[in-house]
Amino acid sequence: MTNLTSLTLAEARKGLADKTFTSLELTDAHLSAMEAARALNAFVLETPDQARAMAREADSQIAKGDAGPLAGIPLGIKDLFATKGVRTTACSKILGNFVPTYESTITSQLWRDGAVMLGKLNNDEFAMGSSNETSCFGPVGNPWRREGSNTTLVPGGSSGGSASAVAALLCMGATATDTGGSIRQPAAFTATVGIKPTYGRCSRWGIVAFASSLDQAGPIARSVRDCAMLLRSMAGHDPKDTTSVDIAVPDYEAAVGKSVKGMKIGIPKEYRLDGMPAEIEKLWEAGAAWLKAAGAELVEVSLPHTKYALPAYYIVAPAEASSNLARYDGVRYGLREQGRNIIEMYENTRAEGFGAEVKRRVMIGTYVLSAGYYDAYYLRAQKVRTLIKKDFEDCFARGVDAILTPATPSAAFGIGEKGGADPVEMYLNDIFTVTVNMAGLPGIAVPAGKDAQGLPLGLQLIGRPFDEETLFSLGEVIEQAAGRFTPERWW
Ligand code: GLN
Repeated sequence: MTNLTSLTLAEARKGLADKTFTSLELTDAHLSAMEAARALNAFVLETPDQARAMAREADSQIAKGDAGPLAGIPLGIKDLFATKGVRTTACSKILGNFVPTYESTITSQLWRDGAVMLGKLNNDEFAMGSSNETSCFGPVGNPWRREGSNTTLVPGGSSGGSASAVAALLCMGATATDTGGSIRQPAAFTATVGIKPTYGRCSRWGIVAFASSLDQAGPIARSVRDCAMLLRSMAGHDPKDTTSVDIAVPDYEAAVGKSVKGMKIGIPKEYRLDGMPAEIEKLWEAGAAWLKAAGAELVEVSLPHTKYALPAYYIVAPAEASSNLARYDGVRYGLREQGRNIIEMYENTRAEGFGAEVKRRVMIGTYVLSAGYYDAYYLRAQKVRTLIKKDFEDCFARGVDAILTPATPSAAFGIGEKGGADPVEMYLNDIFTVTVNMAGLPGIAVPAGKDAQGLPLGLQLIGRPFDEETLFSLGEVIEQAAGRFTPERWW
């Protein structure tokens, strides 16, 4: 039998339908791969019993001929998604051994469609980070290494476990979330495909909240088609999330392979940064050339407020986080540290339960929202956010169908290499991705090449609101031209 873990999701769907193998066999192959890859620290919890039970159920549905679109497909779930009866921690000590009594809407839709849960995936604590190093379970290893080096690199963050597990063939796809780049940046660092849908496309219900006006979930998988398949199950209106939008979910897969002839692709000049590695510049040009060869038209566009996006994000996101994280008080969830009175109990619990980066965000957020500073920081950042959104709207009003940019300003870096002395060094990773969250737009990261050290690099496509289909069509062109990349196994 072919190596079951190296199939794409689309190939596995066919194998299951043709009865070449069962979901139980497919699931067991992944469980063994996970066991052999514990050095990567991608999973924070393995759920083999549940996985096998779900696989058996899928097999019986396939046999009966009434299987859902993801029947029998083994997936990993970011530990930010509440899973009923299965520990959910957001990789924070403060949630301790919290076991939800409810299932997130997104995961319940995946199970409705027949998918199998392999376990919970590592992430930065409360999804705050770009390297997965803030997790209370420790960092995740990127399956990719520099040629001739055995330094372990970060897989990006915050969905580092999701990206690493998908790239290392431990699961066929994974859920992820993106507040400022946490789907697209780890996808770019691991040669996987990740899409952050339009804000409101997927329900946020049952996902641990970081910054509610920016948070959006999406899939990470090994191909554009696989992402399209997963998003179809994840997307949809949910009355339990008032920001989820009630518009029909299209058949995203139908957009994969569709002609992009005549599409107008914007190249924003503000994304050409000083000091950007020449390789990234070259990759960007290659991407533009591939789209042109496929019949798209390239136009230079301007997004003049881009340079304010990162500073504005680091006001808006911490402000919302400080409010969202107020609920972790030692009473309602997980950890409790005793104190002489209730205030001291709160203080001790939060001091012990939150990691350094989370504390930094809570302090920044509280500061920018406080009386006297609110207008100068928070309100101003919200105005900047409106201008960033307007930049994109102006661009789309000129007939631009999508915008092409690099996904990240560099390839993956080593564990401990960035952000130690200056957190801004880490924040700069999101320079190409945060604008998309600020504007609520869909963005996809697709692997497009490698740097001189053999590390993967990705390109980003940004689309009009609720036009994920165009991103899948264009992403497929890049994937076809660049090919797919698989790391050599060392773990
Ligand atoms: N790296 C960004 C941050 O730390 C984005 C994280 C995310 O998208 N969840 O805020």
